[in-house]
Amino acid sequence: MARKVLVLGEVRDGFLRNVSFEAIGAAILAADGGEVVGVIVGESIQSFGDELIQYGADRVVTVEDAKLGQYTSDGYAQAILAVIDAEKPEGIIFGHTALGKDLAPRIAGKLNSGLISDVTSIEEAGGNLVFTRPIYSGKAFEKKIVTDGVIFATIRPNNIEPLRKDESRTGAVSSLRVEIKDLRAIIKDVIRKATDGVDLSEAKVVIAGGRGVKSEEGFKPLKELAQVLGGAVGASRGACDANYCEYSLQIGQTGKVVTPDLYIACGISGAIQHLAGMSNSKVIVAINKDPEANIFKIADYGIVGDLFEVVPLLIEECKKLKI
Ligand code: FAD
Repeated sequence: MARKVLVLGEVRDGFLRNVSFEAIGAAILAADGGEVVGVIVGESIQSFGDELIQYGADRVVTVEDAKLGQYTSDGYAQAILAVIDAEKPEGIIFGHTALGKDLAPRIAGKLNSGLISDVTSIEEAGGNLVFTRPIYSGKAFEKKIVTDGVIFATIRPNNIEPLRKDESRTGAVSSLRVEIKDLRAIIKDVIRKATDGVDLSEAKVVIAGGRGVKSEEGFKPLKELAQVLGGAVGASRGACDANYCEYSLQIGQTGKVVTPDLYIACGISGAIQHLAGMSNSKVIVAINKDPEANIFKIADYGIVGDLFEVVPLLIEECKKLKI
């Protein structure tokens, strides 16, 4: 059944986040031949419309306002609800990002609709659109269909293939004027932490360190391997609790959920709470000197050894391969 599906394009630090392109891939599946409409909200965002179209959106609606320069759930919800009111979509897809997790339930509540969050795949089966999502911290998956009302879902980054960018694709980018009413919270200033580049939740390669890394200094070879492979550094809570790194790197039940193509766990025992954040990674490599470590049970490749010997060898070999 052909549907009109709305997709949120998320702009951060002057770029559209990758998950926006994956959301278009998801929306094309959900639209089933219908129209995919991108939505971009913010200040000075008009130029991003064409990029969403090049990744598969049929057209794009932007809402620009100085009050939308910084994300607030109140302001963004007003803007997106106005677009929904004007477009009357049958489907809505957001990324399951910090912004999506905050905004989607608010909008679903206002629309009085359901919400299927953290979707990892979408397929057509028996005339229904079937959404798969992990439950019980990734130990099982459930399949859901929407039987009534708008189909609203958030998709987990790095799970649904985006379309290849096609620079010859064209489509209309229009702007909708929305009067943003007084916001209940106003962001005066954002103080950014210095980061080493690749966003952990969207990284294709994650090199994660645990208590076995032993010190802040011990993270250095992991950072170098991440740099060689174009990836990001993550950590177990053990490493964060021991002050070897910042909590923003924590992966797991109470940290970030990542699904990279390659996850290399260095000196991480594999506690269930850690596995909750990384067990759906496509290829898992574990380096641990304890052959009985739990992490080996879910690893595709296991290296029993001292990470301080293994990681430098990996760096050397990867450099030779010029990855
Ligand atoms: P350890 O369990 O101490 O493991 C260190 C490993 O390093 C060992 O296997 C050891 O053999 C190996 N090692 C040591 N030296 C070397 C070396 N030189 N070379 C190779 N290997 C070496 N944890 C998370 O990670 N994320 C979470 O989100 C999270 N949430 C939690 C929520 C709750 C409510 C609770 C109760 C716990 C949570 N935890 C979480 C903590 C979790 O239970 C574990 O304590 C934690 O994951 C252990 O971290 P670790 O594997 O780094 O440390």
